[in-house]
Amino acid sequence: MKYYSTNKQAPLAGLEEVVIKSLAGDKGLYMPERIPVIDKNVIASMKDKSFREIADIVAQAFFGEDMDSQALREIVYDTLSFETPVVHVNDNIYTLELFHGPTLAFKDVGARFMARLSGYFIRRKGLNREVNVLVATSGDTGGAVANGFLGVPGIHVFVLYPKGKVSPIQECQFTTLGKNITALEIEGTFDDCQALVKAAFMDRELNRHIPLTSANSINVARFLPQAFYYFNAYAQLDREGKADELIVCVPSGNFGNITAGLFAYKMGLPIKHFIAANNRNDVFFEYLKTGRYNPRPSVETYANAMDVGDPSNFARILDLFGNSHEQIASLISGYRYTNEQIADTMRHVYTTHRYLLDPHGACAYQALTDYRLKPAETGLFLETAHPAKFKETVDLILNAGIEIPLKLQKFMKGKKKSIPLGKDFEGFKAFLRKA
Ligand SMILES: *Cc1c(COP(=O)(O)O)cnc(C)c1O
Repeated sequence: MKYYSTNKQAPLAGLEEVVIKSLAGDKGLYMPERIPVIDKNVIASMKDKSFREIADIVAQAFFGEDMDSQALREIVYDTLSFETPVVHVNDNIYTLELFHGPTLAFKDVGARFMARLSGYFIRRKGLNREVNVLVATSGDTGGAVANGFLGVPGIHVFVLYPKGKVSPIQECQFTTLGKNITALEIEGTFDDCQALVKAAFMDRELNRHIPLTSANSINVARFLPQAFYYFNAYAQLDREGKADELIVCVPSGNFGNITAGLFAYKMGLPIKHFIAANNRNDVFFEYLKTGRYNPRPSVETYANAMDVGDPSNFARILDLFGNSHEQIASLISGYRYTNEQIADTMRHVYTTHRYLLDPHGACAYQALTDYRLKPAETGLFLETAHPAKFKETVDLILNAGIEIPLKLQKFMKGKKKSIPLGKDFEGFKAFLRKA
């Protein structure tokens, strides 16, 4: 399979290059030249298969021709050491719980798969220099990427995070690991961290000396494996006879997760309609309504992993549907919620249905409710993180002390180690050249 850039100015690239470089030379995002379609009968047979077996079918269809298929299967199986169960919430609303991985967020799936696939290509290529993964985080991404890449030979990860602006629970997930993970505590905001990473990728001289890559959802190996759990969710609902008219709702920030769902749809997964749920960062909601896309600086909300003012995967969605606003708006509906609405939903669902939503899942639950399902339809929203990851916010809203799962407590016992750095690029560059 060859991959092209959404900007159409860079040459086609193979999977190995796409994974190791992340971004095309023209700064566009890579897209596969064709989308493999999975036979209807194969999809129908998934209800009798395990998550790993289902994911292997999807992975082989995409990546099988570019690598050894046994090696690919091992990567898939090793990535999916946890389940993504579908849980009933109320009426015909179900949730796909994506928070049973090592850092309790859906990003574990893509991060682990990308780490293992990069490791495979680096070994195959026989690279004798370490590849450096740079990742800027406002909280969740850093933990998932650091844990995904922990101990992978040939790769060093630098996590840049804004000093004092990520929660202690999030911070310990990438500052206590050691080995090939270095945490950089930046004297600045998340935007400053992101600007440093961007400047590093743009700096020709730096790139000549050290191989740099990104583990953001711009990387094909990070966002595409997220299609696995859409198929797995379908299989679980199919077992209960609930998959015929499926409406899928995704809490969205950079739109990597929903883009993976749209890929699953294009591969033949029978999803009737999608909903993108936003917080007050609503550029996509506006695009659906007006056809105009006006990126702007993000605003802070309770659902902070969705505080994105210019979603990077928007370019992929446009490309998937040939830039047709009409097609996009007929397949996807949008909803947006304020902090007050998020809090109301969390309280209502907790007291009435005894389900503990996190602030991101709350946007999605509410959107599915406001969409007004028809009796024959099944609504499925993605729960993207465990509520304990946002303990301060959740406790405040529910006036409760929610328990921290053991997996998270373990991180909190580790010793924090990070390197303080300023937000100026020259200092960061000098640091990378010495590291
Ligand atoms: C990253 C994240 C999102 C947004 O996912 P995108 O793929 O960026 O749209 C939603 N919820 C949580 C908890 C996240 O960590």
